Amino acid sequence: MSDQLKGALYGLLIGDALGVPYEFKPPAEIPPSPEIEYTPPPHFPRSHPSVQPGTWSDDGSQALCLLESLLARGELNLIDFSQRLQNWYFEGHLAVDKNVFDVGIQTREAIIKLSKNFFPGESGRADEHANGNGSLMRCLPLALWHRGTDAVLVEDAHQQSIITHAHPRAQACCALYCLWARRILQSDTDPWQSATATLRLLYQNRPDFTYELEDHIRPESPPICEGTGYVVDCLHSARIACRQDSFEAVVKRAIAFGNDTDTTACVAGGIAGLRFGFSQIPARFIQNLRGQSLFAPLLTQLLTP
Ligand SMILES: [Mg+2]
Repeated sequence: MSDQLKGALYGLLIGDALGVPYEFKPPAEIPPSPEIEYTPPPHFPRSHPSVQPGTWSDDGSQALCLLESLLARGELNLIDFSQRLQNWYFEGHLAVDKNVFDVGIQTREAIIKLSKNFFPGESGRADEHANGNGSLMRCLPLALWHRGTDAVLVEDAHQQSIITHAHPRAQACCALYCLWARRILQSDTDPWQSATATLRLLYQNRPDFTYELEDHIRPESPPICEGTGYVVDCLHSARIACRQDSFEAVVKRAIAFGNDTDTTACVAGGIAGLRFGFSQIPARFIQNLRGQSLFAPLLTQLLTP
């Protein structure tokens, strides 16, 4: 279990860091798999050129803020989590070199509202066009930390989303992702299908969430995977990437979709880390990940029974 939990946290941070130089590129411009590394091939016009290779971005920092909040409070406390997100955005808390870069539009708007004393339930946009992947990319620590029932895990996944992404579609994607991770931890033979079945049951009396699950997320539909910032596309792209048979192949497949490469690889990398464990993550990805002292105490606390 601890190898899986450690693998998940490293996996999401490594996926994020590996995807950073390739962000916003169309799939045709992504280098072939053997050349996808923290340092792109020579002459590749890397995104975020001032950021050193092996640096996680907003995805990793926000996930660490959530983990830190859960460990500090022993529950999901939206006020506490919101404060840590503000500390990240304004002061670089849990960002490598305190350098905040690559912030999503919805998240930026919400954090600025929070800083003006909006309540966490009022800060996130809830319109249909506000379904970016910004709450999905940070929610895995919930599944790693949680000891509650599936129903409580789902509710907490919703709640952590609404701070920045309040539409039920984004909330439901976070819930499905957390249940998927939990089923992997439980060694379920078909974790995605089992997570979907559970979510259907839990949404039985919630038509708005059922509508989002069946008509938009469509868990069994052959997805169009483009690795974009749309929350549903991100989740499906990560799911398809996770069909690869090693950690390295998963995160590289996620990046090969192009577009929002760091987030797709973060979402997929967390799951791949859970599935294969820390011991199966290539050593060079671990050794060259920057900022490890920032999260080492959090990881120790997470792994302490
Ligand atoms: Mg990012």
